[in-house]
Amino acid sequence: MKCHRCEQQAAVEVRHARAAYCPGCFVQRCREQVSRAISEHRMIRPGERVLVAVSGGKDSLAVWDLLLDLGYQADGVYLGLGIGGYSDRSGACARAFAERRGARLLEVDLADEAGFTIPQAAATRRIPCSACGLSKRHLLNEVALEHGFDVLVTGHNLDDEAAVLFGNTVTWNLPYLARQRPALPESPGFARRVKPLIRLTERETAAYCVIRRIDYIVEECPLAAGNRHLVYKELLNSLEERSPGAKAAFLNGFSERLMPLLDDLAAREREAVGTCSRCGSPTTAHVCAFCRLRDQATRPPRRRRTTRRGTRPVRTGGGEVDPRVSLRP
Ligand code: SF4
Ligand code: ZN
Repeated sequence: MKCHRCEQQAAVEVRHARAAYCPGCFVQRCREQVSRAISEHRMIRPGERVLVAVSGGKDSLAVWDLLLDLGYQADGVYLGLGIGGYSDRSGACARAFAERRGARLLEVDLADEAGFTIPQAAATRRIPCSACGLSKRHLLNEVALEHGFDVLVTGHNLDDEAAVLFGNTVTWNLPYLARQRPALPESPGFARRVKPLIRLTERETAAYCVIRRIDYIVEECPLAAGNRHLVYKELLNSLEERSPGAKAAFLNGFSERLMPLLDDLAAREREAVGTCSRCGSPTTAHVCAFCRLRDQATRPPRRRRTTRRGTRPVRTGGGEVDPRVSLRP
């Protein structure tokens, strides 16, 4: 197969674009797609300070690399979640990348900041990703604001966003649909949050990392089981297999046709936001969800009451799912 651009031997096939590329032209295409997403959705303005949320996975390292090559002033932030060896290895990937690129990496540890780890928080939820997503959103936003960054970048790609859209559509969750945007504008208490990889698939970011020799954590998080978005991804992948381009069409159709109809709802949602009585973060409740999670996760374990028949088990609650990406290439 020949490269779509230069006629040399192709190395990467991009089925949804019905094209194949040699390594050099593929990297160039990735840069163009990211530039296009940034300008189409007005994600980053010239001269702004950018903070990239880096997990050590392929997507976050790819987007950091792409932004640096496009000339953005982009620092990274790594949040230690306390997931045993998995966190150790993902942190090592983030640090190695920062060192190689001479980029600045901020490090925040969930246990130091909030007094609990994700495995501890997971015990309070039916699905661990719910507690993890909530903690990441809260602390990364806090770091961006405290350090004066203009914009917080996440590595959500086309597959992630299509899976989240599918989930929100299956449940017709209109407030979530109204908030699902490639760029969420800044508002009191919130840094602007943007997703420059919205035009690239998971396969493309993995291929990008291989070509650019970026070491990323390949193993899947041991707490990923139960994340419904992995199921939605599988469903969409089988649709894509039969009909290449279906995923991009689904997501782009939403952005172009439905999203503008949800602008009023998004504005009403923003107006309803107040501040947490404990930490001052934006919330629609008296105490924000993160403070409530911290209370639950740091509460001393209740003494098991022994009955005549034996030990009574401690009950755990349920929760929502976070749209985190699977780290499998
Ligand atoms: Fe957190 Fe992702 Fe692991 Fe879920 S899969 S617990 S969101 S790191
Ligand atoms: Zn709070």
